[in-house]
Amino acid sequence: MTMISRKDFLKTLALGFAGAGALGRRGLAAGLDQAAAGGLGRRVKITGVDIYPMDLAIKEPFRIAIGTITAANDILVRVRTDAGIIGIGEACPAPPITGETQAGCLAAARDIRTLLIGRDPTAVESAVRAFAMFLHTAPSVVAAYDMALYDIVGQMAGLPVFRLLGGDKASFETDRTVSLAAPEAMAAKARAFRARGFRTIKVKVGQDPATDVDRVAAVREAVGPEAGIRIDANQGWSVPQAVWALQRMEPFRIQFAEQPVVAWDLAGLKAVKDRSPVPIMADEACFRPEDALKLVQAEACHYINIKLMKAGGIFNSVRISHIAESANVACMVGCMNESRVALTAAVHVVASQRNILFADLDGNEEHLADPVVDGFTIRDGEIIVPEKPGLGVDVDPAFLKTLKKI
Ligand SMILES: [Mg+2]
Repeated sequence: MTMISRKDFLKTLALGFAGAGALGRRGLAAGLDQAAAGGLGRRVKITGVDIYPMDLAIKEPFRIAIGTITAANDILVRVRTDAGIIGIGEACPAPPITGETQAGCLAAARDIRTLLIGRDPTAVESAVRAFAMFLHTAPSVVAAYDMALYDIVGQMAGLPVFRLLGGDKASFETDRTVSLAAPEAMAAKARAFRARGFRTIKVKVGQDPATDVDRVAAVREAVGPEAGIRIDANQGWSVPQAVWALQRMEPFRIQFAEQPVVAWDLAGLKAVKDRSPVPIMADEACFRPEDALKLVQAEACHYINIKLMKAGGIFNSVRISHIAESANVACMVGCMNESRVALTAAVHVVASQRNILFADLDGNEEHLADPVVDGFTIRDGEIIVPEKPGLGVDVDPAFLKTLKKI
C-alpha cells in the first residue's frame, strides 16, 4: 500500500475541486474568463483565509438530555479576496450533537483553506460540493466557509443574503430556550423570559418522563395560557416513554416536540408520531439534505429542525427546506450556542424561506459577552433581519485583536 503525504492528499482534493465543474483546470479558467467577458465584471479571487479559535464564556452550564455545554469553543474564519471584500464565518462545534471538537475543526479548517485559495468565491455550489467530504466529520467548519462565501457574494451583489436568496421576510419571531433543571427552576426562567418579551418558550426535557411532564406543567402555569410552548427531548426517551409523556402533556398545548427518541431510529420516531397528540419535529435525525429525504419518505415527522452547524451552512439548509416543503413538511431553524456571527447567517436562511415557520435562534443569549457588531437585532422576541449587503455582521475589531490567528 502506498502512503500519500497530507500535502499530496490535499493536492488531490484541489484537483477534484477544479474538476467539479467538469472543466478541468485550464477549462475552468477559460470558462471564468468567458464569464468575465460576458459582462459579469472582473473575476474575484480568494487570496487568503484567516482562522481563529474563538472561545466564548457562557453565563452558566446549559444542560440538555445528552450532555452539558460549558462554553462555546468556536472557530472564526475570515475569507479575503483580491477585491478587498472579506467574508466572515463561524463554526460552533457541539460535541454531544455532532461529535466535533474545536481541535478537529481547526484541522479541517486548515485543510479547507488550502482548497479555497485562488478560487472564485461566487462559485458557492462548487465549493459546497468540494467540501462535502468534510460534512461527515466537521459540518460546522463547512458551515463557516459556506456562510463566508455567501457574505462575499452578497457584498458583491449589494444585497443582504436573504434577499440574494429571493426572500423578503424582514422580521420573524424566535423562541427562548430553558435549560434542563428542576421544574420550579425552569418555570422561574420561563417567567423571566416572558417578562423580557419572548412569546414562545422552548422547554428542554428528555429525562425521567414523569418529571418531564411536571416541567411542562410548571412552565405552562408560569407563562400563562397565551404563550407558545415547544419542547425538546434531545433523543432522551425510549419510544414507550415518549408516547407516555406526550400523551400526558396534551393538556398543556405543546406546539411540537423535538427529537423524542434516539437520532438513528426513524421507525421509532414514526411510531411516536403515530401515537403522539403533540406534533413531532426531527432534529438530530436530520443533518444533511439526504437525511431530510429519508425522513419525509418514512413519514417520520411533522417538522424538521434545520441547523447550519449540522447541514454545513446556508446552501444545504435551503436544500433541506426545499425537500421538506415538497413533502408539505414545514421547518424550523435552530442553533447550537454560536455567537451572533453564525446566528446572523441562520437568520438570513429563515428570512429567505416561507417554508421555515419557526426559529430557535437564541444561542448568544447564554454568552457572557457579545463581541459582535451589527448583525440581527432582537426586540420582544422578534428578530429584525439586517439589510446591509452580505451577512451584515462582523466581530468587534478590538475583540478580533485578542484572538490568535493560526
Ligand atoms: Mg433540538
